[in-house]
Amino acid sequence: MKALRNLLQRSMGARLVALFLGLLFAVQVASFSALRASLSEHAHRALPARLDVGDRVFQSLLDQRAQKLIDGARLLAADYGFREALGSNDADTIVSALENHGNRIGATESALLSTDFRLRSSTTQHQVGLERLIAHLSDKAMTGGSASTIALLSGVPFQAVLVPIKAPVTVGWVMMAFPLDARLAGDMGSLSDLNVTLVFRPRADAAWKVGLSGLPASEARSLADGPWEGRLARMTPIDVGGEELGVRAKWLSAKDTSADDGAVVALLALSIDDAVRLPGDLQVALLGITLLGFIGFGFGSIFTARRVTQPLRSLSESAARLGAGDFETAVEGLNRQDEIGQLARSFERMRVDIAGKQEQVRRLAYWDPLTQLPNRLQFRESVQAAMSAHPDSTIAVIMLDLDRFRSVNDVLGYHFGDLLLAAVAERLKRSTVRPDDLVARLGADKFALLLTSGDSALGLAVAQRVEASFDAPLVLEGHTIDMRASIGIACWPQHAADLDMLLNRAELAMYGAKRRAQGAVVYEPAIDAPASWTLSLLSELRQAVERHELRLYLQPKLELKSGRLIGAESLLRWQHPERGLVPPIQFIPFAEQTGFIRELTLWVFEATAREWRLLHDQGLDLVLSVNLSTRDLLDVKLPQKLATILQRHRVPERAICLEITESAIMDEPQRALAILERLSQAGFALSIDDFGTGYSSLAYLKRLPVNELKIDQSFVRSMETDRSDAMIVRSTIDLAHNLGLSVVAEGIESAAVWDLLRDLNCDHAQGYHMSRPMPAAELGAWSELWAARPHATAPLPALHLH
Ligand code: C2E
Ligand code: MG
Ligand code: MG
Repeated sequence: MKALRNLLQRSMGARLVALFLGLLFAVQVASFSALRASLSEHAHRALPARLDVGDRVFQSLLDQRAQKLIDGARLLAADYGFREALGSNDADTIVSALENHGNRIGATESALLSTDFRLRSSTTQHQVGLERLIAHLSDKAMTGGSASTIALLSGVPFQAVLVPIKAPVTVGWVMMAFPLDARLAGDMGSLSDLNVTLVFRPRADAAWKVGLSGLPASEARSLADGPWEGRLARMTPIDVGGEELGVRAKWLSAKDTSADDGAVVALLALSIDDAVRLPGDLQVALLGITLLGFIGFGFGSIFTARRVTQPLRSLSESAARLGAGDFETAVEGLNRQDEIGQLARSFERMRVDIAGKQEQVRRLAYWDPLTQLPNRLQFRESVQAAMSAHPDSTIAVIMLDLDRFRSVNDVLGYHFGDLLLAAVAERLKRSTVRPDDLVARLGADKFALLLTSGDSALGLAVAQRVEASFDAPLVLEGHTIDMRASIGIACWPQHAADLDMLLNRAELAMYGAKRRAQGAVVYEPAIDAPASWTLSLLSELRQAVERHELRLYLQPKLELKSGRLIGAESLLRWQHPERGLVPPIQFIPFAEQTGFIRELTLWVFEATAREWRLLHDQGLDLVLSVNLSTRDLLDVKLPQKLATILQRHRVPERAICLEITESAIMDEPQRALAILERLSQAGFALSIDDFGTGYSSLAYLKRLPVNELKIDQSFVRSMETDRSDAMIVRSTIDLAHNLGLSVVAEGIESAAVWDLLRDLNCDHAQGYHMSRPMPAAELGAWSELWAARPHATAPLPALHLH
């Protein structure tokens, strides 16, 4: 039952079949009931007529029997011997004649009556009621000659006749009678399907007795007791033994006899139930039709249900396909004109829509919407495809990164940055050689070119074309921008065995170009050595702060004249859990590119302030130098942030010197100048780091609020041997002094250089010769050792370890 309910709930087809069969069942029941009702109504209408017929048949049966009796009596009346005996009044002969004739026709009672109807002789034993019978017969005979009647004799119903004896005048009467016995009922039964039950009673107040009956005794009894008496209806329905009979009462004895005369009634009955009952063959036929109907409807409804559910199922399969991401296969049933066709068309529209959206998503996944160039993903796939398609040829990948793009974005806004990128994309497209060369934007300001059959020479040639295309400044919205790019080239299979290595090496070559400030660089293993793992480090760098992996190192700054310790430069180190102590050159450039340098700067600044306070408490009054990058100079909130840190550690501004490289200032001179002004006003000492490597004009330097120049170590290190370097150092010192700036020489690696610089009047010195950068906590101890050194220029061998 539960399984059936489940099936109905889950299957629409099953519900349809159940509905059809249920309807058929209801129709069958209704028609069956209607048939029964009409049969019953017809039976009730037809049965009284049948009773009429039965009544007449019964009457004629009675009449026949009466006639037989009359004929017998007439034969006796005409019998010569009987007449003789009558004439001679021979009583014995008369009686024996009466007996003989009576026996011949089955009459049990015979009598001879005088002309005035007195009994002259008789064979009857039944005296009770005889006189009344004769009186009744004689009344009738007066009119018609002979007469017949039914009446009780000694309480038993008899049929009796009276016939005159004529010679030729009436000389007497013969009466004959016989009981109404079972034969009557039998005859009646054989003539019609009516059932006859004879009931009688001697007096009106007596109960009806059953005489003869075609019914079983008990049923005949209850019929006799039934409510037929006094009913004038043509038929009275009476329930007899659980069966309904239609009954008609036929008074056989004269009704007008007095109450004491006794009454005889024939109850004619037929079965209403039989009449109403469907004939057996009709029942079989109906059952057959019903069965056939069920089978036909069953198959028909299954077929219909299939027709309805099959397309639904195929639609649901289509929906499942859509759900599984297959948007290619069209939905079935589009040509149907019905509701399912409409549904299918809606589905199809949905499929096309989704496929369109999918295509859009694909576009977004594979294309850069800004420049309309393929994106990194597509570039990778194209390189891979080119590798698979031409296993024997060479592929060159050119990767380029715009210099100073971030500054453009920061200063002129993102909209302008977008325009710039689009313009660059345009120029790059024009630089390609063959139509199947691919230009892609890998992200931010990074682009790549794929030369599907090209070696490093071609790569370099194209890279130079790209460089040349950047020669003409870009003019966008009234701004003239001088764009440069760092370009890296790597080839397959020459430089890399697979896709990732190829892209990685092109990128490394590009960073190499950036570091060397060189336009285009073809990959070479030397580039790889320090930087091969830089990229992976980059992601870890962000976590380094939280994990306390950063270390502050200090490198002493000394007064050249006296050798006195006057300060130190804060230099950042990264204590990597696996790679050990990582030098700044391996992560600072990338931190600058990602903008993360701002957080690093604040970390260094805070550590420096803390250290200054500690050293100060030890009695050392030093100026600690902190390096700032281009990014820091673009942060207008930097002065405020630095002030907050200093306040926290109770450090005066004059105790900190901020080192800025030439290029950091020249990237964005106006803004850098504004910030430097504010920092200078705040009381910080400012220093130009790596002086000599950039292109800044000294005239421009004059306008900067700086206090110090740091000559780059590349000049200092070799000044002992390289005369031109020595000259550059000398003139720089002079020039700085003329501008009122103090001069620091960094990169002093020998006592000779120390001496040279002292002779050139250089103010301060920094270099491995005196000390390598050391963990900040060691500076206090170092300063004591330094102060206690035997003579002024002697290095401290024990401290060279750092
Ligand atoms: P820099 O600011 O010019 O720092 C001086 C660099 O020269 C230091 O390298 C120092 O160890 C090295 N040096 C000093 N004396 C000698 C010497 O006698 N011979 C040689 N060969 N090298 C010497 P380091 O610590 O590796 O730092 C490299 C650069 O990384 C720094 O150059 C600076 O530009 C950058 N950097 C270091 N720490 C920071 C920082 O906290 N913030 C920023 N923005 N940059 C930093
Ligand atoms: Mg520095
Ligand atoms: Mg420097």
